[in-house]
Amino acid sequence: MTIFIKGHSYGYELQRVAQMFCFGEKVQIREGVPPQDFTEAYLYADWDGITAKVTYYCPNGTEKKLLSNTRETLIEENLELTFGVQIFEILSAVTGLCPPWGVLTGIRPVKLFLKRIQEGKDQPALKEVFLKNRLLETSRFQLALQTAQIELPLLERSTKDSFSLYVSIPFCPSRCTYCSFVSHSVEQAVKLIPAYIDKLIEELAEIGQLAQQLKLKLRTIYFGGGTPTVLSADQLGRLMEAITKYFDLSDLWEYTIEAGRPDTITKEKLETIRKMGAGRISVNPQTLSDSVLQTVGRKHTASQCMECYRLAKELGFSVNMDLIAGLPTDTLEGFLHSVNGLIAAGPENITIHTLTVKRAAKLSAREAREQLDMVRNMVDNAKTDLEKAGYFPYYLYRQTGTLSSLENVGYGKPGTECLYNIYMMDETHSVFAAGAGACTRLRHPQTGKIQRIYNYKYPYEYLERFGDIKERKKQITAFFGTVL
Ligand code: SF4
Repeated sequence: MTIFIKGHSYGYELQRVAQMFCFGEKVQIREGVPPQDFTEAYLYADWDGITAKVTYYCPNGTEKKLLSNTRETLIEENLELTFGVQIFEILSAVTGLCPPWGVLTGIRPVKLFLKRIQEGKDQPALKEVFLKNRLLETSRFQLALQTAQIELPLLERSTKDSFSLYVSIPFCPSRCTYCSFVSHSVEQAVKLIPAYIDKLIEELAEIGQLAQQLKLKLRTIYFGGGTPTVLSADQLGRLMEAITKYFDLSDLWEYTIEAGRPDTITKEKLETIRKMGAGRISVNPQTLSDSVLQTVGRKHTASQCMECYRLAKELGFSVNMDLIAGLPTDTLEGFLHSVNGLIAAGPENITIHTLTVKRAAKLSAREAREQLDMVRNMVDNAKTDLEKAGYFPYYLYRQTGTLSSLENVGYGKPGTECLYNIYMMDETHSVFAAGAGACTRLRHPQTGKIQRIYNYKYPYEYLERFGDIKERKKQITAFFGTVL
């Protein structure tokens, strides 16, 4: 599929809308009028200053569809939105697909709801903005609204001088087949861990010093990965000790360590984590089916996950558990069995992900598309079961390439919501991030302007070019120096 554009520059935005209908095929953008001898399927989005018009031609040139709006009937007087809706409606009619988030393509739909709620929009006005003008399904409208309403009081807790800390441990003991995060040899990378920890501590020392100079208050800490518990108890202890040494933890509200894979969890590690001050961990079974675990390359069983969960509860942790909808060979029945197995265990949070299919993953787009309807059923039924059991959606994000444009949702028992997830997704305050692949997001306390500082993605780059990473930290002082 190609989109020809003329008289405007919304190619990228329109490509993202069209891409939701085109699995396994990249939508191309070209400027200008379609050539007469063009024989493939295309859309033509033309703005002549008076009329916004989208024309569709099917591959053999026999079918043609056209939608147009005049300047006076542009949706919300917004040309980009109008073109997006036209393309959505045409492709929906052509393919029979109806992506549930309508023309919203970003990863943070709840942020759009929060903005409108904070502007004072009531339910009828929100319905007009999202159901009528952006074509969301009612179920996604309600999900986003519910999530925003749960987030609001928690967002208000964050003060102008708050910040969070993210520590990246991008190592895993082996690679899961569906992983789009790690694309190089995990076994090779693991050898870099000792040197990586030394540098990470150096980076943390620098961030801690900056935060203290800027008089910022650390509210939440999150160790993510990869799998942070791939580190030994000693290594975890060293890192956490460095955090205690270099940061003032007296205003801390939450401290989470992802302990993703049970094959990396030991009693000794959990005791170290607890002793060093973390109160929340994430144990991620992904499914409670042993055969599905085997299919996706996980070298552990579901009962090992539950054993880790019991151990974590004995040590007094608040626990999140992740499941993934749409894993190969999983079924609707099997997935709901996993959901209800976790509900019966009763962790504070349960997060439902939809499988992300990206170029680096081993699953094909065709395989992904075949599961589309089933995955929608999985997440919709999971929501019903979770809500019946007292878990409510408190954070939500989407990823490009996610099956049928669905979403990942964190559910929590009221009062146990993970603050880091909410603040990070809403970009409520600055998140200082350390380690390979980490991205520091600075938020201007007055204007809300966001500035990002990226670290190198892979551990070997992080180690080799650590000097550059230290140099980039100067941007933090420059950013806050002008606003505090
Ligand atoms: S544990 Fe997560 S990051 Fe590690 S290989 Fe599996 S999916 Fe990828």
